[in-house]
Amino acid sequence: MRLKVVVRVRPMSQREKLSGSQQVLSVDTNNNIAVTNIKVPEQNAGDSRERVRRFAFDYCFSEDTTQDQIFETVENIVGTSLKRRNHSCVLAYGQTSSGKTHTMMGLPHDPGLTPRLCRRIFKYFEEGALSNETSRMNVSVSYLEIYNEKVADLLGDNTEKKSQCQDRPLKVREHPKKGPYVEGLSQHVVTTDTELLERLEAGTSKRRVGSTTTNPKSSRSHSVFSVSCDGVKLHLVDLAGNERAGSRGYGPSRFREGANINKSLVALGNVISTLADQSRSSFNSRNKFVPYRDSVLTWLLKDTLQGNSNTVMIATVSPSSTYYNETVNTLRFGQRAK
Ligand code: ADP
Ligand code: MG
Repeated sequence: MRLKVVVRVRPMSQREKLSGSQQVLSVDTNNNIAVTNIKVPEQNAGDSRERVRRFAFDYCFSEDTTQDQIFETVENIVGTSLKRRNHSCVLAYGQTSSGKTHTMMGLPHDPGLTPRLCRRIFKYFEEGALSNETSRMNVSVSYLEIYNEKVADLLGDNTEKKSQCQDRPLKVREHPKKGPYVEGLSQHVVTTDTELLERLEAGTSKRRVGSTTTNPKSSRSHSVFSVSCDGVKLHLVDLAGNERAGSRGYGPSRFREGANINKSLVALGNVISTLADQSRSSFNSRNKFVPYRDSVLTWLLKDTLQGNSNTVMIATVSPSSTYYNETVNTLRFGQRAK
């Protein structure tokens, strides 16, 4: 797997500005990002309590970056990959409110990566298809959500009969040749961009329904929108927030939820860093065991996290001092992948 790590800093929110929090991130033109720990006074800088930490990534985008600029960068990687008939995956990683959904979905008047890629995807597939076979391309989509390590279909039909078993989670299985798949997950054939975008919208609104402002389930679940064409796959993933479970509301179910979200994110970190070790290390550790099956997420993404596939991880961060610790955690996670 070839992995590119992209960092995107979002603008300070009104609330962050009003609370008097300070700007702690700065991005330079060489794709480096510096994080200032404002709690460490200048004269104590250095040693273990370093005042400024610096990280380098494949791309670092500052807060004034447009959706279009992000798309241009990601399209270059994903479009090329799909044209060569390689699997591709885009993941948004970061704490809740750092801009994952903004980056992946965006707003109706300012769409994010997913709708923009969907609008071009037939073109990538056509360019990858053998000439004169474009009329026979089989493009299909699926859309799922992983919550508490359980898979739910966001595009399942809502007939009486089906709704009775709606709460029953779908199972992940592994086909000896085709790889991991979700048993019973609905697959929808699409023939135009418009149809594809309609499916995206339908599943996204279904996801919103299960979530309220006081109980934002979507921040604690992972969503995976997948488009495939004759065996070539693209996964677009909006991950759960990576913040640690807070101290409030620590009932038994909250605890399980926190533990499980960590499970998929921890597993993702382990898989990605094992792969990164392999790619830069000696022949001996090339065959190191990759723990794909440690979580539902990594198992499902297995195909796109190995072989010739291309993955883009977008680490989203807030520039505010309020989230200093979360930001450092997110950047460290991105660094582990390299
Ligand atoms: P997450 O999905 O990581 O929880 P969101 O994408 O929902 O975070 O972003 C939180 C808020 O910040 C939203 O109101 C969103 O519109 C805004 N936001 C995030 N990133 C940006 C950005 N790059 N530019 C402008 N607004 C942004
Ligand atoms: Mg979100």
